Amino acid sequence: MTMRIQISVVVALAAAWIGAQGVLGAESGQPAAGRIAPPAVADLERRLRALDPRDAEAYFLLGEDVASEAVEPEHVELAKTLFVLAFELDRRQAAPSWVSASACLALAEVSRLERERRWLTALARTMDARQAPPDWNYADPIRISDETAYQAATAIGMLRSGHGRQARELLARPEIGAVVLRYETLLHPMGLPGETGRLTREAERWPCPECSNERVLRRPGVNPPELIPCPWCRGDPGIRLTMAEMVGQLRFESRLLAGVHRSWSAQVASDAGLPVRDPDPDELAPTLGVDASKVFWRSGRWTDQPESGQAGL
Ligand SMILES: [Zn+2]
Repeated sequence: MTMRIQISVVVALAAAWIGAQGVLGAESGQPAAGRIAPPAVADLERRLRALDPRDAEAYFLLGEDVASEAVEPEHVELAKTLFVLAFELDRRQAAPSWVSASACLALAEVSRLERERRWLTALARTMDARQAPPDWNYADPIRISDETAYQAATAIGMLRSGHGRQARELLARPEIGAVVLRYETLLHPMGLPGETGRLTREAERWPCPECSNERVLRRPGVNPPELIPCPWCRGDPGIRLTMAEMVGQLRFESRLLAGVHRSWSAQVASDAGLPVRDPDPDELAPTLGVDASKVFWRSGRWTDQPESGQAGL
């Protein structure tokens, strides 16, 4: 009997994952042997079937068990679905508990994407400030005049093009310096402080001391005159940036210029960066591809019908 149950669990889960993922074996080139074993969670099928939408915590706890045993991408998907459902069920309650914020953090834990992790952490903070790390300030909108925002963004752009004097003049204005200092963590790929000091130092280094941003020098003692690329700035004056730092600067400017990217989905498509606006709980399930109405696990799949399908066991 136990063996029968285990076999039907394997078959049911494998069927569900094949249904969700297409032909699993196709990728490995072994269609016949491509079925994926479920994660090694005790009583998994029984616990899935026993889930009751009135008990969001049970979804969360099972999600944690699945996540900790996950060895295949399909296992992670199952854990994610459980966390999303826990989140949705909990926040529908009159008094949401710790579960919704914890589900966001658990999703952040299993996410492979840094931008997704950051957004989920932000969302956790929205759901429950006590659940999240304290050092994020992105939920705080920038309240400054359009003119100051524009000039602060301009100062950063000036540094990139090597116009250090103009950047210095802008950064020296108290209201602009204050804005840059306040939001400098947006500039850093890891959200760390200290970028204001770097910008100030860079502003001192430009324009190019060799070519004054002319990008070329005249080779001495040669006739007719011959121009060579400036060896100091290599013909490209301005602050040297890694790609991640460039993204940070654009993120900073984008947000100062009133963040056209209002939703997380839009931002993920356009910028691998920090959230611009308050995270919206309504976006969680659709963005992660979970149908939050399907809260019942029946016959190896999620459904919105508590009695649909056959019991199977
Ligand atoms: Zn130069």
